[in-house]
Amino acid sequence: MEPFGDRRFNSYASYYKRLFGSRVQKISIDAGFSCPNRDGTISTGGCTFCSNAAFNPSYCKAEKSIRQQIEEGIEFHQRRYRRASKYLAYFQPYSNTYKPLEELKEIYAQALAIPEVAGIVIGTRPDLVDEPLLHYLNKIQETHHVMLEYGVESVYDETLKRVNRGHDFATAEKAIRMTAEHGIPCGAHFIFGLPGETKAMMLDAAHVISQLPLTTVKFHQLQIFKGTRMAEEYLQHPDAFHLFKLDEYIDFVIDFVERLHPDIVIERFAGEVPPRYLVSEPWMKLRYDQVLRLIEQRMEERNTWQGRLEVRG
Ligand code: SF4
Repeated sequence: MEPFGDRRFNSYASYYKRLFGSRVQKISIDAGFSCPNRDGTISTGGCTFCSNAAFNPSYCKAEKSIRQQIEEGIEFHQRRYRRASKYLAYFQPYSNTYKPLEELKEIYAQALAIPEVAGIVIGTRPDLVDEPLLHYLNKIQETHHVMLEYGVESVYDETLKRVNRGHDFATAEKAIRMTAEHGIPCGAHFIFGLPGETKAMMLDAAHVISQLPLTTVKFHQLQIFKGTRMAEEYLQHPDAFHLFKLDEYIDFVIDFVERLHPDIVIERFAGEVPPRYLVSEPWMKLRYDQVLRLIEQRMEERNTWQGRLEVRG
């Protein structure tokens, strides 16, 4: 078996343990960013699946200062998980590089000034990074951990068009390569089950993703959020969507991970959203930890692991 210690995949927890020697907790920050795919710069509709409201924890509100959000986030996590001793400020909702560089520097500096914050993770679109920003983020690494996390969602341009993503896969690939060339760890987010994609297409994507210089990946099953354009499409044409059932997804995501390069750290195998936000059927109200346990149990039963079927080159 590949060398993942007692796990069957390259886990996020051990990645941060290797980096920091201890457990690290991310604190989500809403710094009041917008998104060019919503404010009219690219489009006004946004991605058809997008509902940022569904991802924000209660302490994460743009009306509060960044310091207040981080302090409340640390308190929240200290009550829940006593083991974390280091924190990463996670600029999560919307597009967190969508301002002039001088303003971005001021925003990130507010988080970096807090002693418990060991670094920042910046979620953004791949069409919102450039050389000066990457150069600046590279410099921050002298004192803090930095990671850029891109919403890529699919490797297929026809899918990206269909969900009104407003950029193609080549843009995502370019951003990931530029980020890696600047020595900055880079994460990417993908959704399984977007309309028009077959299971075979999704599995083939593992080969494309394995060729990218990615540090981490997050996978989500498609969930359809209330109030989104996709919810309207779904309610009108439910047959046009294939939404994974839990058992089917467990086997699918293992099939995928078997094809994924073993050096890529898996931060998430599935999404977890409070059922009140969904028009699609939730998975029996399972928490992510429970879903992860089921996936790991199935990997044991199948005696398989990340990268077992990876095609190199
Ligand atoms: S998913 Fe991200 S890029 Fe798409 S509309 Fe929402 S905030 Fe913008």
